[in-house]
Amino acid sequence: MGCKICRTKPVIKLTSTKISLCDKCFLRYFESKYLRTIRTYNMIKNTKKLYIFNDKYSEINYFILKRLSDERKGKFKVLKTNNKKLNIINSNNLDKISSLILLSEFKNKFKKDLTPIYKNKLSPLYFLNNKEIDLYAKLNKLKTKKEKIDKNEEKILKFLDEVESKYEGTRNNIVKSYLELIQ
Ligand SMILES: [Zn+2]
Repeated sequence: MGCKICRTKPVIKLTSTKISLCDKCFLRYFESKYLRTIRTYNMIKNTKKLYIFNDKYSEINYFILKRLSDERKGKFKVLKTNNKKLNIINSNNLDKISSLILLSEFKNKFKKDLTPIYKNKLSPLYFLNNKEIDLYAKLNKLKTKKEKIDKNEEKILKFLDEVESKYEGTRNNIVKSYLELIQ
């Protein structure tokens, strides 16, 4: 099976929709999903400065948002920061968020801070998973950072990997149900 859109050699099969895509079509899919999250949650507004928090996927956030800033002729600046108090773009994504949602379920503590935008934290990678983000980074020759996660989160991550391998789209469904519950 070739790429669903242009029939050339695929580089990935999306877990959410089981669609195979080639590198070019995948990049387009990734960026449109990223930008749709920005638009849907109005993450940029009238911001003059957009701060990218220095975490796991900061290079990817910087790469896409810097280009967006150039396209808008510098209406906002894109800067990197280690300051958690600013309005920050972070690396939270489908894998991270679904793990945290499930973890909070197990602890019987419903967390309200796991939405795409919460107070000063913005997560444009929210609906993309690790596999997709890592491939996007690879195709654009961008670096990703190692992230320290605690033992419980690691266990949940492995558990969800197993479930996902049997029931594709599990993480999507967890996050979808969470957002429906909270809205
Ligand atoms: Zn294609």
